[in-house]
Amino acid sequence: MTGKVTDTVNSDHPAHDPVLRGGDRDTLLTLVRVDERIRLLKARLDALPETAEVERLEEAEAARRRREIGTRRIAHDIYGTLRRLKADSARLRERRRDDIAGLRAVTDPVRRRDLRHDLEVAERRLAELREDIAREQRTLATFGHALDGAEDSREGNPGHAGDGATGHGDAGRHGDTDAGAELARARGEERAVTGEIRRQLTELAARSVRLRAALPHEILVRYERCERDQGIGAVELDGSTCRCCCIQLDTATMRRFAGTPPDRLVSCPECGVLLVRAVSSGGADHV
Ligand SMILES: [Zn+2]
Repeated sequence: MTGKVTDTVNSDHPAHDPVLRGGDRDTLLTLVRVDERIRLLKARLDALPETAEVERLEEAEAARRRREIGTRRIAHDIYGTLRRLKADSARLRERRRDDIAGLRAVTDPVRRRDLRHDLEVAERRLAELREDIAREQRTLATFGHALDGAEDSREGNPGHAGDGATGHGDAGRHGDTDAGAELARARGEERAVTGEIRRQLTELAARSVRLRAALPHEILVRYERCERDQGIGAVELDGSTCRCCCIQLDTATMRRFAGTPPDRLVSCPECGVLLVRAVSSGGADHV
């Protein structure tokens, strides 16, 4: 593919389009393909379905935690109410005991009537309190998954609500474990995929550095200037569409390229990126 290169400058191939000598074409083409692969892998890394799945599960987990905190707050209030109701109940039972003891000891009819009246009031109030306590405990049981019965056991008084809560709590905790395992699995998959892509990127980056070092200074300067301005150093021109700006080159430009020696690099008149034209024989090794 090497040949006598005429470095004559005329209007058909401007002075700023460098000439490829010796193995420059292969080096440049390989660099173009290596850098294209790097861009593809970086884009893939930014839009991995595995990452989207991890984000979805993390959001679901955060929502579950927010709900749990809300539920715990409500449950905390119910525990407070229950403690108050149970204390009232204990006081009334004591009053009932005193009334019954009084009725055994007292003979005065007026005093006995007062005691009987007080006993009736205490019994009625105790019945109301039992209903109140049962209602609060039923409500507590519906929040079961957020509770561990910790409040009850702290009081050394594991009540029925605690039992009910534990029953629901098991199901809730199993759900948490499943969600946690799913998130851990999704994170593992994401790590595996990103790890493999990063490994490839490291190799390709080292290869890109070596290829750049092998390019003539003039070509490298042009390549890196295009890369800075366009995000792409050079593209292969296959057909008549620039793969950097995606614009189809007009026939006048294509005719000018056809009249330009194949060893001379050309650039896209639209975006300025270096164009490496296809040659019929040889070429760079595949990436
Ligand atoms: Zn272009």
